[in-house]
Amino acid sequence: MKKTIDVLGVSFIYTTLAEFIAKLCEYANKGEKKFIITANPEIVMLARENEEFRELIQQADYVSADGIGIVKGAAMLGTPLPERVSGYDTLLGILRTSNETKRSIYMLGAKEEVLEQAVVRIRHDYPNVCIAGYHHGFFDWEDDSIIKEIQETEPDFIFVGLGAPRQEKWIHHHLHMVEKGVFMGVGGSFDGIAGKMKRAPKIWRNLHLEWLYRLFKQPSRWRRMLALPRFVLEVRKEKRRRKNR
Ligand code: UDP
Repeated sequence: MKKTIDVLGVSFIYTTLAEFIAKLCEYANKGEKKFIITANPEIVMLARENEEFRELIQQADYVSADGIGIVKGAAMLGTPLPERVSGYDTLLGILRTSNETKRSIYMLGAKEEVLEQAVVRIRHDYPNVCIAGYHHGFFDWEDDSIIKEIQETEPDFIFVGLGAPRQEKWIHHHLHMVEKGVFMGVGGSFDGIAGKMKRAPKIWRNLHLEWLYRLFKQPSRWRRMLALPRFVLEVRKEKRRRKNR
């Protein structure tokens, strides 16, 4: 049985990043099929407000704590999680270990030129990782050539970077069409690998202010970021509710 921690209705896997990477690689070795979501406060709020998305999240095999907000929220509720397990760090960890064991990956998402740069970077930095295929993220939803390619090449990992909740919906919609593969939503990770989206400098990350840095760099995010104060408010309410029980 996997241990999970409930944060406002979403069950997060209780794990460290290293354990999580090892677990996913084990599934890949066994040729299993898994659906992984890395969720931040925006996703939790979306799940609270949208029943269809809530049901979709419940069908994932694992939801990991992407974002310090989730880790802090869990601690505030008196049920701490070990650490942040972001999609980006999980992806890098999988690439690192897969370089030793020659696993294969499929990459779906990001703008065409960004994805191509990410492919070049991965081929250079992880030469033993086999890139079974890749496709940019701006395609017709009805186009089934992507899933056909995945069915034919049977990659160990399928990384889907279409942004949330689009990537989760894509995975959910196609999962039943394949036999194997660890499917994981990775947000803007391909931009990160391509060097298009600089991570916040370490000092910002250490202060847990990466979100603020990203807001400065990409002001269009502010609308989505409004989910964060609402999330904190809901966590406080939930804390009070649990106390009064
Ligand atoms: N993206 C995509 N197809 C789309 C919309 C977005 O491939 O139709 C890509 C976008 O280029 C970026 C990634 O999705 O690489 C993540 O976008 P965003 O930063 O909005 O998501 P987050 O990382 O916050 O989940």
